[in-house]
Amino acid sequence: MTSFTPVQLRLSAAQAQVLRDAAIAAYPRECCGLLVGGGDGEITVRAIVPTANVAADPHRSFSIDPQAQFDLLRKLRSGEPKQRIVGHFHSHPDGAAIPSSHDLAMAYDPEAIWVVMAASADGASAPKAFRHPAGYDGFIEVPVTMLA
Ligand SMILES: [Zn+2]
Repeated sequence: MTSFTPVQLRLSAAQAQVLRDAAIAAYPRECCGLLVGGGDGEITVRAIVPTANVAADPHRSFSIDPQAQFDLLRKLRSGEPKQRIVGHFHSHPDGAAIPSSHDLAMAYDPEAIWVVMAASADGASAPKAFRHPAGYDGFIEVPVTMLA
């Protein structure tokens, strides 16, 4: 029996639109970036930080630019109020808004929120959120509360 702390993600409608716009702009490549926020259990996103996708094959995978992550961590360390990187986002061009088996192979942080959008030539899906709890062999969906 595996137990994990339930988590919810709070996202504004404007932030959801920023995520969808990133997925559309990157298509047919995967977009990616970092989510900044705070809270435990109920995590509120405060900022969305798109980064370059430095994966060798950005049509099929994503890799967040490590320099951008380093710069953001350094900025957050000195910022007030205290915020942290709560997770990251990416898109699946011509795919589904669920983590792939490749994503599962890349998942190592049980606290990280994974936000995924499906993207196509016609647009992008609403963002969905997931987490890969420690000791659990897959992703679980994290309910997203959309704020006005
Ligand atoms: Zn993926």
